[in-house]
Amino acid sequence: MLVSSSLAGPLIAGGVTLAAAAAVVTNAALLPGSQIFGQTLIVGSDPKQVALTFDDGPNDRDTEVLLDLFAEHQVRATFFMIGRFVLQRKDLARRVLAAGHVVGNHTMTHPWLAWQSGTRIREELYGCHAALQDTLGAPVRYFRPPHGARRPLVLRLARELGMQTVQWNVMGKDWLPIGVEGVLRNVRRGLSHCARRGVAANILLHDGGDRALGTDRSATVGAVRSLLAELPAQGHQFVGVDRWVAELG
Ligand SMILES: [Zn+2]
Repeated sequence: MLVSSSLAGPLIAGGVTLAAAAAVVTNAALLPGSQIFGQTLIVGSDPKQVALTFDDGPNDRDTEVLLDLFAEHQVRATFFMIGRFVLQRKDLARRVLAAGHVVGNHTMTHPWLAWQSGTRIREELYGCHAALQDTLGAPVRYFRPPHGARRPLVLRLARELGMQTVQWNVMGKDWLPIGVEGVLRNVRRGLSHCARRGVAANILLHDGGDRALGTDRSATVGAVRSLLAELPAQGHQFVGVDRWVAELG
């Protein structure tokens, strides 16, 4: 054992370094914009473009209402689906793809991947991949980790399956009980932040809930209805996240 009168110094320094290292790892695992654990897609270069992205479906009623709204406004969106719901609502998942939207993998059961074993991470990604591809009969090229949480293995497995990992830079926080106005306030605040920085917006919303089918997302739908009217009037253009992939090079 090292005994030294100067032990307190290195220990404190070591403690600080460890804390800093832990913070870096936590940020790399959880911050949607962090690229430390590997490259993830957030937005393309055209600041007028907006991607509406929906996680945790397919979900009865609200996914269908959104599809009707998008058909009416001729808008493409992106849906990151949970595998176990895809298997329970195959027709709905097919309807999303058939309507021309981007469909992505959001794992089989929605765990925090950053803290799971390698075996579990593999099961979650591969399970959802199989559920989607068998149901849709089409390749799935996009992946969003639940809660945005990942570690290098998560990104590596996504790549192995031919998927680009996609995060976000605007949150509606529609999992909170804040109603249509609350969701809109969060989205508008995020959009102004993007406008100030001169970047496009990748908006995270939810058409389902990770715990069960049938989660009420009517506040999200109400907010989307407003955004479909107000954003084009401000010169914005809605795109699927696939539009931005080519720019990654
Ligand atoms: Zn989710």
